Amino acid sequence: MPSNVRDEKINCPYCRSVSKFDFPFNKREYYHCPSCDLIFLRRGDDIKTTVDYYRESYYDDHTVDQLSGQRSNIYRHILDLLEDYTNPGSLLDLGCGCGFFLKEAGERGWQVSGVDPSEKSIAYARSLIGDNVVCGTLDDVPTDRRFDAITLINVLDHMVDACRQLKKVQDLLAPEGILYLRFPNGSFHSFVMRLSLMLSAKQFMNRFLIFHEYAITQRAIKRCLGDMGFVDIRVFNAHLTGGNFCPAGWTFAKLTVKILNSLTWGFFKSLEKLSGGRWLWGPSLQVIARKGTGGHRS
Ligand SMILES: [Zn+2]
Repeated sequence: MPSNVRDEKINCPYCRSVSKFDFPFNKREYYHCPSCDLIFLRRGDDIKTTVDYYRESYYDDHTVDQLSGQRSNIYRHILDLLEDYTNPGSLLDLGCGCGFFLKEAGERGWQVSGVDPSEKSIAYARSLIGDNVVCGTLDDVPTDRRFDAITLINVLDHMVDACRQLKKVQDLLAPEGILYLRFPNGSFHSFVMRLSLMLSAKQFMNRFLIFHEYAITQRAIKRCLGDMGFVDIRVFNAHLTGGNFCPAGWTFAKLTVKILNSLTWGFFKSLEKLSGGRWLWGPSLQVIARKGTGGHRS
């Protein structure tokens, strides 16, 4: 066994290929799989601690951007996209948080259900949309239910066993049901991380970078969903949220962030268009895919 944990080679949790240490982030080590391009956290035996954190503390630490309403435009974009693929039907939002997305969806005619491990988030969601939200995980969704669409908005990269969870999501989708995913772009965040290490700017950049259990790239998610038998898989840049760097009342700063966001968004979308969808360098990705009729291929 190597004396330094960073010399250790460990197997990719998705394709089992031997993977090497890539970079550190907040005293955690991330590894990169050369085969499927997945970047993943070197995990110990603290899975229960992680689940407890989401159940008990996530609301207090991270709900401010949901409550501020700055995600509303994102929720509308997601619903516009879903409705390009299917008419409003049954919708499950996995990791529904305080329920703002489901509220918007319900107003557009979707029959909404949600699940989230945070007790406080679910209490808030119930005050917004009623009892069709459950405090728990995917394991608490009845297996005999089928949904026309399932959404995971900034959730998949938090999941300790994301591959197994995605297979369960697939089972809960109706035939030809639509899967929607949104997550931080692993290519963007790992590139900036490596650059900040080279420039010794890690301390400054860490506050802007996002790494949870996984840093998911375009190549990794396409391969994973393709292996599972999903069809019509589309990966593209996701709209930016932004704005939560500014305290309340900082109107000028908020306006500046808004203008910068628009310019940044225009830049990333131009790259995406010019490359025919190959260069996805925005901070977040979104994926839409349809459940195939052939079942799992792996
Ligand atoms: Zn792999």
